[in-house]
Amino acid sequence: EAARQETFADVEPITKDNVRVSVMGNIEFPTEVEHCVSRGADGIGLYRTEFLYLQTDVEPDEQTHLDAYRAVLREAGGQPVIIRTLDLGVDKVPPSLTRGYPEQAAETHSALGLRSIRLSLQHLPLFKTQLRALLRASVDGDVRIMFPLISTLMEFRKARMIFADVMEDLEEEGVDFRRDIPLGMMVETPSAALLAEEFAREVDFFSIGTNDLIQYTLAVDRAETLVSSLYTSGDPAVLRLIDRIIKAAVAADIPVSVCGQMASDPDYVPLLIGMGLRQVSVTPHAIGQVKAAIRRVSVEQAEAIATHVLSLETARDVESYLRNVRRRQE
Ligand code: PEP
Ligand code: MG
Repeated sequence: EAARQETFADVEPITKDNVRVSVMGNIEFPTEVEHCVSRGADGIGLYRTEFLYLQTDVEPDEQTHLDAYRAVLREAGGQPVIIRTLDLGVDKVPPSLTRGYPEQAAETHSALGLRSIRLSLQHLPLFKTQLRALLRASVDGDVRIMFPLISTLMEFRKARMIFADVMEDLEEEGVDFRRDIPLGMMVETPSAALLAEEFAREVDFFSIGTNDLIQYTLAVDRAETLVSSLYTSGDPAVLRLIDRIIKAAVAADIPVSVCGQMASDPDYVPLLIGMGLRQVSVTPHAIGQVKAAIRRVSVEQAEAIATHVLSLETARDVESYLRNVRRRQE
């Protein structure tokens, strides 16, 4: 009982004026679902499946994917599970992918190169193996699928087409799967953010990846330490893009969440609610503090905070304003 209180398991994430915000958890391994469930999460908002590749030197086969997805769905106990297709590349390049192809190895290590959905679209057997497993697992729970690093509409359409091909294959084989799996995308490139209205007409949901969105908007490599002071959530250009993505999703009436690190920072929670966000997915140990941040604010206050922040010109001003707001609330 004490443990449940400490983890905010039974605390509802509602604003002071009773608006429910959905708080989900981010995971990399099936064993982490438990850390979300025990804190009363509303499901898994981001399952980073590339970690299946990083545990071993051998390429995971369909059964390995399937076992992992079934384990996550079982632990999630019927709650929604948003599974992201492989986000390989940069620092996550399995040896099996580049063995014997040195020129490919160089490109897959670049943040602007062959990574993520681009890599999946160029390695169709790898991509289809994962999609087959996802479809097969779909009968065991509330599976939703999203594609990472989409930067053009054509890219999303191609991925969706391959998904349809895989469905057809399974159909022919007489394998059971759900036909109505929601297909969403990460919005984490400036190009996708700028075309959010167009994307919102074609995709079932958005999940905003602030970690990459900050990197690509500010042209600051998220892994480079010498420029890390330029890498900031409070940058007005980044915030305007996020506001635009949320507004586009709300106007098109599709779900939108933030699954990047920004949503795990209690200072930013009121701002995101004020922009219209009603769903976040955060690192499991942050679930309690994010619920607490939601409960400290009303939607009206959050909207005033967002209006003010969107008028500020520097990251420094944004950060100090949000910090002061939190101090006044506590
Ligand atoms: C992001 O980019 O914000 C994100 C959630 O994905 P990752 O950190 O895995 O790139
Ligand atoms: Mg990302």
